[in-house]
Amino acid sequence: MDVSQLFDLHGQVALVTGGGRGIGKTIAQAYGEAGAKLVITGRRYEWLTPTAEELRGRGVECLDVVADVTKPDDVARATQAALDAYGQIDILVNNAGQTWGQSTEEMPFDRWRQVIEVNLNGMFLMSQHVGRTMLARGAGRIINIASVAGLAAGDAEGAHTIAYNTSKAGVIHFTRTLAMEWGRRGILVNAIAPGWFPTRMASATIDAYRPRFEARTALGRLGELDELRGIAIFLASPASSYITGQVIVVDGGMSL
Ligand code: NDP
Repeated sequence: MDVSQLFDLHGQVALVTGGGRGIGKTIAQAYGEAGAKLVITGRRYEWLTPTAEELRGRGVECLDVVADVTKPDDVARATQAALDAYGQIDILVNNAGQTWGQSTEEMPFDRWRQVIEVNLNGMFLMSQHVGRTMLARGAGRIINIASVAGLAAGDAEGAHTIAYNTSKAGVIHFTRTLAMEWGRRGILVNAIAPGWFPTRMASATIDAYRPRFEARTALGRLGELDELRGIAIFLASPASSYITGQVIVVDGGMSL
């Protein structure tokens, strides 16, 4: 393969959960620019539809499907919508996620359950439904959005996100286990573990703790969303054909 084709996604179909805003939107835009056709999902039209319209306005084929990753019927419908529109799904990005910040002794069980439900159960459902179609074709890429919070506990005065941290550690081990299970059947499964990036989910925490986060980051600053594009394209493209089960940390050296 010519080196110029290593990062090319023309002819590929990518489904990005939570693709309407934040990190998911950034990844969807990058894939669109690299030539992929897109399906973006989320629970609410208000985020999805403007993003899909924006992408279509730039000449990218993009379908927006309202679907909750925690609902099996929604997951099946989103998968089928992608197949109906494009005939195949080559790349699945399990990006949809939620968090909750409260001390463990005070955290309502429903909040714990909701975070686990979206971040882990949703990822399982999407991987299972889309994965079946990939297995049938003997090819596919699954990219899970983990977090540095899945690698380390943070510090004692941190954001108190035990459900989130636990779920993201689960995302990492899910990635390794699924990579082993499906590797010989043509599916590569990897994870991206971002540090702090300014999104709806993270902004309040960043506002509260920015100096502390910057102080413990080797590069001395937080990330820009665009700095996630390269790794997302790399893990979806021919350039990473011999990489599976890995967690790529994109945190400016915060976890060092
Ligand atoms: P946002 O809150 O901006 O985006 C979250 C996305 O997930 C939204 O599009 C949301 O859409 C969607 N979503 C939430 N729940 C569901 C659900 N049940 N079903 C389908 N979609 C859902 O946050 P980020 O962009 O920051 O988060 C994206 C991912 O990146 C998450 O997995 C997060 O944990 C991870 N991450 C973020 C970091 C950061 O610093 N920002 C750092 C490390 C990891 P809707 O509300 O319409 O459903």
